[in-house]
Amino acid sequence: MKSAAQSWKSPLGIVAVAIALTVAAIVTGLGATVERLVEPARFAMLRHDASGQLLVVEMDAESAAAIKRWPWPREYYASAVDHLLQEGAKSIVFDVDFSSSSTPGGDAAFARSLARSSGLVALPTFAQRTRTGELRSIDTLPLPLFRRNAALASVSIAPDDDGTVRQAPFGTITAGTPRPSLSAFIAGRSGQADSFFPIDYSIRPESIPRLSFVTVSDGHFDPALVRGRAVLIGATAIEMGDRYATPGWGVIPGVIVQALAAETLIEGTPVSGSWEVSIAVAAMLGLVLARARSAIGLAVATTAFLLLFCAIVVGFQAFTQCSYPIAPGILLILFTAATRAPRMIIERFRTQRLVDEQTGLPNRPAMLEAYQADQRHYVAIAGIHNLGSVAAVMGPSVTAEFVLRIADRLRLAANDGSVFRIGDNLLAFTLGTHDDVEDVLLGLRAVLLHPLEAGNRKIDASITVGVALVGAAGIEVALTNALLAAEKAYAQGRFWMEDDTDLEDLAQSISLMGELDAALSGGEVYVHYQPKMSLSDDSIISVEALVRWTHPQRGNIRPDIFIPLAEQTGRITPLTLYVLEQTMQDLAIWRAAGHDLTAAVNISARLVAIPSFNQSVHAMLDRNIVPATALVFEVTESAPLANPEAAIKALQYFRARGVGISMDDYGTGQSTLSYLRTLPLTELKIDRSFVENAHRSRADAAMVRSTVELAHELGIKVVAEGIEDVGCLEFLRSVRCDVAQGYLISRPIPARDIASLLSAPIHIPAAA
Ligand code: C2E
Ligand code: MG
Ligand code: MG
Repeated sequence: MKSAAQSWKSPLGIVAVAIALTVAAIVTGLGATVERLVEPARFAMLRHDASGQLLVVEMDAESAAAIKRWPWPREYYASAVDHLLQEGAKSIVFDVDFSSSSTPGGDAAFARSLARSSGLVALPTFAQRTRTGELRSIDTLPLPLFRRNAALASVSIAPDDDGTVRQAPFGTITAGTPRPSLSAFIAGRSGQADSFFPIDYSIRPESIPRLSFVTVSDGHFDPALVRGRAVLIGATAIEMGDRYATPGWGVIPGVIVQALAAETLIEGTPVSGSWEVSIAVAAMLGLVLARARSAIGLAVATTAFLLLFCAIVVGFQAFTQCSYPIAPGILLILFTAATRAPRMIIERFRTQRLVDEQTGLPNRPAMLEAYQADQRHYVAIAGIHNLGSVAAVMGPSVTAEFVLRIADRLRLAANDGSVFRIGDNLLAFTLGTHDDVEDVLLGLRAVLLHPLEAGNRKIDASITVGVALVGAAGIEVALTNALLAAEKAYAQGRFWMEDDTDLEDLAQSISLMGELDAALSGGEVYVHYQPKMSLSDDSIISVEALVRWTHPQRGNIRPDIFIPLAEQTGRITPLTLYVLEQTMQDLAIWRAAGHDLTAAVNISARLVAIPSFNQSVHAMLDRNIVPATALVFEVTESAPLANPEAAIKALQYFRARGVGISMDDYGTGQSTLSYLRTLPLTELKIDRSFVENAHRSRADAAMVRSTVELAHELGIKVVAEGIEDVGCLEFLRSVRCDVAQGYLISRPIPARDIASLLSAPIHIPAAA
């Protein structure tokens, strides 16, 4: 089932709304107002001449000037009737009040004239409007003396509430007798008394032939004008009053209104069509209009349909005498457009709001909108560092193409996910789990090594990527973190870096540490091993134990996240002892199988200053599961040593028992040169951040080379960690580094996989 919102958007829905509004407008009178506004134009379109069957004899200013008295002596009327009939008038109708007597002589003369007229003369009866708007009989009939030989016709005129005369009656009931209206009498049409017809104001009043009354009563007129015509006699002189407002012709004499009403009936019997039909016809146009796609299309279609609708109504009227109201159609078309327009503006605004103008890529608001749901995943931001120079040299269209090509590659690496342009030189996309992050970024770096093609040029993209977890703080915070990470990566010359700012947030949100104790005993925490390969004979001589935590709800939690937390919350001791115990067990198995292997365990430096920890370790060594010489402690430091003396002493003691001591992450943070002097080191691990670019960056190469030399001077073995490609490995060989560790050789893997790795020779891909 469609929702209300959806159906409101459909063409049918829009037209239904427009019909409801139109009906409301008709009920509240707006329809009538609109109808009156368009009326003059409608008549103007149909304008035509009178039939010529009617002659108006005007009681005009000229006649008033000639006759000089008022009311006019009735001898004049008598004379006019005589002359007109003599010249062959078809009928004579007076729009003059004969309800009161004048002079006995004048009345008698007029009565005699009527007696001679053989009933061809009609005299008026006046009915007046009551308050309720109905025509009511009031006895304003001609004098009985005149009535005897004349027909009677009603001359009542009923203006609308705005004072304009639009319609005339077919007849009225006066003094209980139904009588034709003056116009019905002239045209010889019958119609129901008290029913009305619209006066056709498209007939030009000036096309009705006219004679001045005085010329008629004097007998000085062209008889051809009279012969065979119905004659209507009434006042047109301004001083005689009797004037009415009309649509299109302004204020005109009542007799002319009567003449136009008569002409209307001479042409035929006009019919008023219903507004329902008007609405039905317009609704069909509305259905087309409601499909308009653009603002311009809507405006053009609205204008065209308004004109078309008017043409249909007016054309129909011209051919059939049936006039349908025009306002309902006009209103319906306008309401349809008005209902469609805001929707279109909203849609347009929406697409503009969510799209980057230059490239058409979805923008930052689009990204925020797409990821409102509380999904837990990673976001990545790729910062394009050379965009400014590309824009300056190549111009905006090539720049846009350049950005789009980068977006293509990001999309390729991110498994066809959406790529958003969230800033001028920033593209963002989402990643799944943490495992995906590493894979995707390795792939991405590979695809970005090749220059991009934009504007028929090959352009290199200088890009660094920042990755952040979308945590409880939401996508916006994650984007900020990812951006900071991307900047940090740029500053440190790395391809990508991961944000590490939301540890506390994570700890709070999942109360991780509270769960760690249970995790240790429940098997959620376990150990993987990453091989270390001797560069002298490419054999696996050691492994590094790396702790893993698969949380039942959160999935894999990375050690960089929970190790610092465990340190802060005092849980690092049981964790480390657990790893050490596990490592010794596994190592014993491998050694029993004949592999002369050592294993490294990561020990945070502050731990070795704690006596209880040291005691536990010594107790474990005492059990002799493996000889102490088969173990290496990789000392990592996430904070300056609180008690360096105690730590150094403890390490010296382990060293004295034969345990190897390795300085982890050398070159970064706290692992400084001074420890080379003070700690009883057997091994030095150069941090991945220096190693990974050593074969590409002169500075990193120098750092690695000099560290190797320095360590060898001091009799310390050098391990390089984070080797991902063959070029890097070759470089390390060339600087006589002792041991290599990294994804190129093997990722951290379960203990049983180490066993099989040890029995088969390791395969390193050849250099390209
Ligand atoms: P680390 O001791 O420097 O360990 C090396 C880290 O680099 C591991 O990450 C390993 O998976 C990763 N790695 C190895 N080769 C490559 C490579 O070629 N490319 C890349 N990109 N990464 C590589 P992991 O397992 O996430 O461990 C992170 C850190 O957590 C470790 O750094 C270590 O400081 C700490 N950690 C891990 N296990 C333990 C533990 O049992 N105790 C303590 N105290 N710390 C641990
Ligand atoms: Mg380590
Ligand atoms: Mg390290």
